[in-house]
Amino acid sequence: MDLSPTPEQEELRAELRGWLRQNLPWEYGTGLPPRFDDLGEEVAFLRDWQSRLASGRWVGVAWPQEYGGRGRGPAEHYLVQEELARARAPELVGRIAVNLAGPTLLAHGTPEQKQRWLPRILPAADLWCQLFSEPGAGSDLASVATRAEPVPGGWRVTGQKVWTSYAQFSDWGMCLARTDPAAPKHKGISYLVVDMHAPGVEVRPLVQITGEAEFNEVFLTDVFVPREQLVGQENDGWRVSSATLSHERGTNPRQLVIHAQLLDELLRTAAASGAYDDPRLRPRLAQAFVELRLFQLHNWRTLSRLEKGMEPGPEGSLLKLYWSEMSQRFHDVAMAALGPAAPLWRRAAGNPGDGLWQRSWLYYHAASIFAGTNEIQRNIVAERVLGLPRERAG
Ligand SMILES: Cc1cc2nc3c(=O)[nH]c(=O)nc-3n(C[C@H](O)[C@H](O)[C@H](O)COP(=O)(O)OP(=O)(O)OC[C@H]3O[C@@H](n4cnc5c(N)ncnc54)[C@H](O)[C@@H]3O)c2cc1C
Repeated sequence: MDLSPTPEQEELRAELRGWLRQNLPWEYGTGLPPRFDDLGEEVAFLRDWQSRLASGRWVGVAWPQEYGGRGRGPAEHYLVQEELARARAPELVGRIAVNLAGPTLLAHGTPEQKQRWLPRILPAADLWCQLFSEPGAGSDLASVATRAEPVPGGWRVTGQKVWTSYAQFSDWGMCLARTDPAAPKHKGISYLVVDMHAPGVEVRPLVQITGEAEFNEVFLTDVFVPREQLVGQENDGWRVSSATLSHERGTNPRQLVIHAQLLDELLRTAAASGAYDDPRLRPRLAQAFVELRLFQLHNWRTLSRLEKGMEPGPEGSLLKLYWSEMSQRFHDVAMAALGPAAPLWRRAAGNPGDGLWQRSWLYYHAASIFAGTNEIQRNIVAERVLGLPRERAG
């Protein structure tokens, strides 16, 4: 498939470049976004940025126009991500809503649900979180034990969720809850939208290895969820959740954007620290460059499937495996390029990047866990791409 941009796509690119020159909140194309000591301040800054980006209609370009998108295709979505990377624009704070909740509602929501929730997603007027994982249900997600008991007008939901990113800032949560405890485990689950401000929702932040508390435990105690907040059919939540999960694993322009920015920064750091002249590091820097290019090609392979109207399919697991391992190698090179500054943290004298690399190196240890661990991705590739048997015979 020929993925070179059409004249209309080049026009879109030029329009976005012009818009970014006017609207990026710091000098266009230089430096990384400002960093904050307080996650709340950062989220407020990023909400403001996303709202500005959405006012230019640069968030969700592939969404239908009636919900704030441009009704364009996956290729335009990629092109916009590429340009945002080039401009070093910050990532979307509302990405869980834009990339997961929105597409799930577009596929399975009622017209009323779409009207109610979608227009507030792109400008980050509402933030969403994903209430899937539980202490006893991570890789084996179908084991969710959160109960939804029928009451007049809806359900009362009780249970515990964990690792819920941005729950403390969220307005809505996509929640998997068991509505039929007697049914086989994949069959008795429903997909409910929980109001994160409702009585009975308690969010307790969990501090990560980076020192930040991006994810949380969420305790749900008798939380009332009205019937109109059921997405899809009752007890059919497993099928609805696969729409969310396929978007999570299928394509990843966001990580391409982030790693393109990081590579740029890595090459600057290496030039400044003299790592370019170190014969042990030069091949690793070249390797990082090559791997990022390969990641782009993996993305393009998925993109060509999407452009043909196909789903990302189980091959999406290859993309997740590739980029998460690439990222960890890539960060190891960055730490090596920092040399003796590698163990320093923010505000330490003589620390190039002021802790950017150290924070990022710690954070991306999570890449082989979130959105399905690498062991699970390997199982998917083995069984569903290569067609290997599920269990060894005999
Ligand atoms: C930064 C971060 C953000 C997250 N954000 C969210 C979020 O917003 N919402 C949400 O719902 N969840 C979120 N998660 C949770 C994430 O989806 C789970 O951590 C992940 O699915 C793994 O589940 P678990 O932690 O329970 O580990 P487990 O499933 O208990 O796995 C433990 C270990 O056993 C291995 N294992 C398990 N089963 C198999 C098998 N069949 N074959 C081979 N190996 C196996 C795993 O690979 C892993 O190494 C987040 C996680 C992280 C790290």
